Amino acid sequence: MTEPTITQLQPMPEDWQRALAVVAHPDDLEYGCSAAIAAWTDAGREVAYVLASRGEAGIDTLEPAKCGPLREQEQRASAAVVGVSTVEFLDHKDGVIEYGLALRRDIAAAIRRHRPELVITLNHRDTWGGVAWNTPDHVAVGRATLDAAGDAGNRWIFPELTEQGLEPWNGVRWVAVAGSSSPTHAVDATPGMERAVRSLLEHRAYIEALTTEDPETYARTFLTGVAEQTAERFGGTPAVAFELFSR
Ligand SMILES: [Zn+2]
Repeated sequence: MTEPTITQLQPMPEDWQRALAVVAHPDDLEYGCSAAIAAWTDAGREVAYVLASRGEAGIDTLEPAKCGPLREQEQRASAAVVGVSTVEFLDHKDGVIEYGLALRRDIAAAIRRHRPELVITLNHRDTWGGVAWNTPDHVAVGRATLDAAGDAGNRWIFPELTEQGLEPWNGVRWVAVAGSSSPTHAVDATPGMERAVRSLLEHRAYIEALTTEDPETYARTFLTGVAEQTAERFGGTPAVAFELFSR
């Protein structure tokens, strides 16, 4: 008997300059792929973040009116740690983000504003690896982002955006989905790992409400654990995996 061969992940494309990451909540990118983002900004690439909500329903002990501004502040700090200074919020309602035309339009508008070659989002599938059920917000935003990459390039879809001065942008070449259970590509997590840990740690109020574990131990264990699991599919190198859709 021979061991089944594990399909190896391919290195992510590197011939691009601008990326836009679109996710549902503060902390999605920090759990999902910020070690890769740190490596990209180190290399002089521009990355901007767009969040569909402010994560205001994320902390049980804190009412949304207080939680939203706190989580926005934590998100801006965590983005800064990995070299990202542009963080925008679309103000859809945390927990009940609806997949639909309004969300597609808002994301298409963001893509037209930022004109990225690479769009990044978080797992849009029903489950996390068949083990845990995904949240409706992640599914809605992930799917809408995959769709909006096309919408952004079509003048006749959402013509109101053109009327507002947002010309079509058909330059998205890939959409990369972090946290997918069917990854195809990966980025070496080693150079960005320390900043990824510090970046996740900036979500301190969220983490302290989530676990009694020491926040740094929690963040480091989670991020290095995922990266080391991915190593067996990336030549032994700890990595951040993506499912890459080319356009
Ligand atoms: Zn989330």
